[in-house]
Amino acid sequence: MRIGVFSDVHGNLEALNEVLDALKEESVDRFICIGDVVGYGPDPNACVEKVREISDAVVAGNHDFAAAGRISTADFNENAAQAILWTQANLNPDSAHFLHELPMVFEYGDITAVHATPESPAEWHYILSENDAKRSLAASPTLICLVGHTHVPCIFVKDPEGGISLKEDHQVHFRSGEKYLINAGSVGQPRNGDTRAAYGVLDTEEGEFHFGFREYPVEKVQQKMARAGLPLWLIERLALGQ
Ligand code: ZN
Repeated sequence: MRIGVFSDVHGNLEALNEVLDALKEESVDRFICIGDVVGYGPDPNACVEKVREISDAVVAGNHDFAAAGRISTADFNENAAQAILWTQANLNPDSAHFLHELPMVFEYGDITAVHATPESPAEWHYILSENDAKRSLAASPTLICLVGHTHVPCIFVKDPEGGISLKEDHQVHFRSGEKYLINAGSVGQPRNGDTRAAYGVLDTEEGEFHFGFREYPVEKVQQKMARAGLPLWLIERLALGQ
């Protein structure tokens, strides 16, 4: 099975379309979305519709639950909270209901998918260090744990002795005795210094995972955001990949 893995679309339809094209070219048979379909970007309904239609599993992100009114924006920064207000005002009832009902965790075979962390999904902690990854890998019930939330694509490996390392490159071949924590990065608002939309391909037969990156028309999205009156910093950061 080849699984297309993507996360943090954030209402960016142009980036989502590129990633879905790339995943079709990669001949994936399944799609898993790791949350934050909406928030920040100008096309929440179109993104929900596409993700819903194509995905075999979607887990909830904090922006999804906030936009659907299931959690408050008390922990959000000002720009993010403002974008949630805009999203709430523009989300149709069908999209809002879909987001409201999303599960927080999805488990299938050797794979767990959760937006933030497997140890406390509802606390929306960020996995930023090897120490954070160690806690999450200990809590992951499966060999592979897929996360999102930080918008930075990366792979943490737990070796058979329990040591944790961050992989330098953007691919990994699975070896017995190891466990993997893979952050899928972000489709619609990358923060790894690369403006391209990120996605991953997990091949369960070959036992490997690799990242892919696709350019999309950033300026077109920025223009839509400006017309929608979304916060300036959210518009600017797309061109920085930060
Ligand atoms: Zn996000």
